[in-house]
Amino acid sequence: MLPYPLSTFRAALGNVDDATRRTVRLPRHPLKPSSQLRDYYGWRDPSAPQRGYLFTEQTGALTGIMLTTTRTHTAAGRAVMCEFCRIPRRFEQVALFTASTATHQRSQSGLGTYLCVDLDCNARVNALQPLTPLDPPAEALVTEHRAALARRSAAFITSVLRQARRTA
Ligand SMILES: [Zn+2]
Repeated sequence: MLPYPLSTFRAALGNVDDATRRTVRLPRHPLKPSSQLRDYYGWRDPSAPQRGYLFTEQTGALTGIMLTTTRTHTAAGRAVMCEFCRIPRRFEQVALFTASTATHQRSQSGLGTYLCVDLDCNARVNALQPLTPLDPPAEALVTEHRAALARRSAAFITSVLRQARRTA
């Protein structure tokens, strides 16, 4: 289901200490869609639901960060959009996630972003369909959104890790 073993995902996390790294769990269910249709690997930890993990393959190497969410959703009734896939969703389907930029637990610094609660942007993007006759065909829509998703997720991970290195 995932192209790497748990040990590789753990080792790839750049913003956690070794004690936290050892507690990382794989997703309980296989991730959908499959690897070839994915622009990042993301899931919530089955043993620690406030945690999420994000990984991308950058210049051939797996790179990742841990995120935490304190609230399960944003204020009721607010229109919200995930910063990665930019597909509007109901308020309870998007949450604020924060990535620590310090590998020492005492430090409070972090970067936050609104993301799909299940970190399932890939499934959303692959299911895109044209809404009006003026929209490009589904295949083109998906290709365009996948490229943007890959770019935004990689950029977020890179900026978190750049700050984490600066404070380490
Ligand atoms: Zn999303």
